[in-house]
Amino acid sequence: MSAPLIVLGAGPAGLAAAEVASASGQPVLLIDENSAPGGQIWRGGPQRWRDERAGRLWDALRSRPHVTLLAGARVVAPAGPRALLLETVDGALTQPWEKVIVCSGARELLLPFPGWTLPGVTGAGGLQALIKGGMPVAGKRVVVAGTGPLLLAVAATVREYGGEVVALLEHRASGDLARFAARLALSHRGKLLQSLQLAARLRGVPYLRGAGLLAAEGSGRVERVLLRHQGRDKAIDCDFLACGFGLTPSLELAALFGCAVGQGRVAVDGAQRSSVQGVWAAGESTGIGGVDKALAEGRIAGLDAAGAAPDPRDLGARATAHAFGALLAQAFAPLPSLRTMCSGATIVCRCEDVVAADLEPHTGWRSAKLQTRAGMGPCQGRVCGAACGFLYGWEAPGLRQPVFPASAATLALPQTQGVDTVARAHPASPEQQAS
Ligand SMILES: Cc1cc2nc3c(=O)[nH]c(=O)nc-3n(C[C@H](O)[C@H](O)[C@H](O)COP(=O)(O)OP(=O)(O)OC[C@H]3O[C@@H](n4cnc5c(N)ncnc54)[C@H](O)[C@@H]3O)c2cc1C
Repeated sequence: MSAPLIVLGAGPAGLAAAEVASASGQPVLLIDENSAPGGQIWRGGPQRWRDERAGRLWDALRSRPHVTLLAGARVVAPAGPRALLLETVDGALTQPWEKVIVCSGARELLLPFPGWTLPGVTGAGGLQALIKGGMPVAGKRVVVAGTGPLLLAVAATVREYGGEVVALLEHRASGDLARFAARLALSHRGKLLQSLQLAARLRGVPYLRGAGLLAAEGSGRVERVLLRHQGRDKAIDCDFLACGFGLTPSLELAALFGCAVGQGRVAVDGAQRSSVQGVWAAGESTGIGGVDKALAEGRIAGLDAAGAAPDPRDLGARATAHAFGALLAQAFAPLPSLRTMCSGATIVCRCEDVVAADLEPHTGWRSAKLQTRAGMGPCQGRVCGAACGFLYGWEAPGLRQPVFPASAATLALPQTQGVDTVARAHPASPEQQAS
């Protein structure tokens, strides 16, 4: 048997890459830190999926004995040349690699405002993930705020699970949204249809366009949201505030391999090859564009890694998805006016409790880190790095190994284990593991 192709991330990009690569008999080891495959959009595992594309991919993968899913395993650092260090609930593992496809997805851009650290205030996608993970919201009052189409998807999830969306606050004005819809109607009709279907599921929800978030307030947890709309200040009582200002590619895994990054995304060529030989990247880590982009790029990377030519249909789908991604980026780039949400007393680095007034005198990450400890807590700047990029134009702080927090026991693991150990530690089929 040839060495397995390692696919990092079992979201749409990783599942698509694993499926096409394994179709020719290539052994594949699919690794994800979540306990079930699916990534962000198909979170919750196969039993909850409604998108038939997810079901088809999963049915194909679980029917192939040369495909192994290692779920609940986070890649944290290199373990010597051409080996990875993984942390699982059962302990640490090392995994040698020859060919890797990085499908690490994206995370939310979280922007600071007064009260954003109160319990009950979450990222928009974060609240959706909590709900899909089983957190009850039935009967809870939820405000969804920020900008972009993800807000609609999140509000629809809240409603579906019995929550009351008391307001949907979109920072962009009605005119911007109308122009975006007109562009969708011209070249991305399927996406327009999806938006209209989501909007229909939100009938009756107060949808305030051009709304500015001022603060979250409450004693011990969020109790109300203060906002400005049409020149008037208002307060809306709520149990949760879910905020989304866009997504940003997750670059840690690509950094672990030393892949070149440009414009905040992993740089790839037409075959999804990164700058490092033997490493491909696909999905949101190479730029935000949604599930269709992730699927097309995953298939292109998987075929190339297995030594096969790309399918022209995937190349076409990728081009369309890239155009959609560019349209999204243009229509929903966070407006400079969002900077005014953050006052001097607002916490920016929530790990180290550093407020904006302490950061403002600095000209970049280096001096800010040295003198305030911003970006030096457990998240290592994953949250405040992007926020400071938006607020002050600072380039995100460089990543250090381990790229994710790891226990001392993991870091001390002798570098002797490999794929056999992985297989022995997790002998279950992908289907058994997912259930
Ligand atoms: C919070 C959130 C919610 C979203 N909700 C929606 C939605 O409702 N609808 C929609 O259309 N789009 C949504 N998106 C956009 C979403 O990113 C894409 O639609 C799609 O999921 C992208 O697929 P992907 O395979 O590129 O990445 P993802 O689906 O994000 O998959 C990446 C996978 O990599 C894994 N991973 C990352 N780092 C490691 C590591 N170190 N070790 C092991 N595993 C790792 C993650 O656990 C994840 O499963 C959401 C994005 C975010 C961030």
